Amino acid sequence: MASHPTATDTTRFDFLVIGGGSGGLAGARRAAELGASAAVIESHKLGGTCVNVGCVPKKVMWNAAVHAEYLHDHSDYGFDVGNVRFSWETLKAKRDAYVSHLNRIYRNNLDKAKIQTIQGHARFMNDPEPTVEVNGKKYSAPHILIATGGHPSVLSDAEVPGASLGITSDGFFELETLPKRSVIVGAGYIAVEMAGILSTLGSKTSLIIRQTGVLRNFDSFISTNCTKEIQSSGVDLWKNSQVKSVCKTDRGLEVMIVTKDPEKKNEEKISTIQEVDCLLWAIGRQPNTSGLNIGAMVTAIKTRGKENVKIYKTSFTPMYHAITSRKTQCLMKLVCVGKEEKVVGLHMQGLGCDEMLQGFSVAIIMGATKADFDKTIAIHPTSSEELVTMR
Ligand SMILES: Cc1cc2nc3c(=O)[nH]c(=O)nc-3n(C[C@H](O)[C@H](O)[C@H](O)COP(=O)(O)OP(=O)(O)OC[C@H]3O[C@@H](n4cnc5c(N)ncnc54)[C@H](O)[C@@H]3O)c2cc1C
Repeated sequence: MASHPTATDTTRFDFLVIGGGSGGLAGARRAAELGASAAVIESHKLGGTCVNVGCVPKKVMWNAAVHAEYLHDHSDYGFDVGNVRFSWETLKAKRDAYVSHLNRIYRNNLDKAKIQTIQGHARFMNDPEPTVEVNGKKYSAPHILIATGGHPSVLSDAEVPGASLGITSDGFFELETLPKRSVIVGAGYIAVEMAGILSTLGSKTSLIIRQTGVLRNFDSFISTNCTKEIQSSGVDLWKNSQVKSVCKTDRGLEVMIVTKDPEKKNEEKISTIQEVDCLLWAIGRQPNTSGLNIGAMVTAIKTRGKENVKIYKTSFTPMYHAITSRKTQCLMKLVCVGKEEKVVGLHMQGLGCDEMLQGFSVAIIMGATKADFDKTIAIHPTSSEELVTMR
């Protein structure tokens, strides 16, 4: 079905998507597959956060950090690799080229699926039928999907003097050189990943967190271990701390930090980290809804009531570390409910867990029980086998 302009110059579609990120593109493609005329409105780059300033470039940087980490183990495995040099510039150029390549692929895929791409910022109109305006043109559809994602939160200079001298995760992907001295603020997964990547690639890195652990919204098993691993990996972790002010000097930024002693409520220690060339705020994300001209949105979150829950957990040193002096831990936790012990949760942390989790998620979505896990043949020696031999 083709879209068509009406007498009032409004172009109509069956399905209109605001936001060309992962959510919006998937929605538009499904609609087109079902025969609807669809369009995607994107104000920046196709692929959204994931492709441009999120998962994809992050994973490239993370992979680079994995190389750097394995270098520490090379001599334990008998390799003498001599003096290894790393070029951030080479890596960035290749990463940027890959992201541009993906942008083109996304555009081609939309064209092939006959989904119209509209470049610009969409804003709802007060029309009787659902209508948005983009660059002075009107588009309407009975169904409009708002898939506008979010952007990194920032603090104003009024809240923390000099805060604007810092960058966010978006700015991280614009860095042209590896910072020598980095300060990351935040305890969420983006802060943890950025701190880990920068530190492993050779930047002296401090992570400033307000409480005593990172990933506080994750399972406590993961949170506690990740906090420990971050410290043993060489990141300088500042607990119970907040940035008080930032100022610029000839030798970089000076970041003033206030640390509270949780035992003595009124005692504060003021410290300064000097010669900082990368201050990165990773303090949360805000939804991109303010420019859309829609009223407040209400989100209802359904929480699962307490059921008969049984937890199985284990932690071990992966076989990879058998002969390395550097060690990391692997943690696994299965959350089972009911008499039949249906597996409803799986928490993992450690080497290779991303790939393991994806495989096991199929079993979980199919309703696997603990007994199904126990019946599964263990591939040995792997870390995954621990999941099917857990007692
Ligand atoms: C540094 C970082 C690392 C991450 N790593 C991971 C990871 O490893 N794994 C994972 O699962 N997730 C990760 N994420 C999260 C993941 O990127 C997001 O959850 C996902 O991209 C959200 O997709 P979305 O389609 O909802 O929104 P987005 O991808 O943000 O897309 C929204 C799009 O809408 C556009 N837009 C907004 N308003 C308008 C408007 N009014 N008109 C037109 N266009 C508009 C924006 O330009 C944007 O392109 C990461 C995020 C970050 C920031």
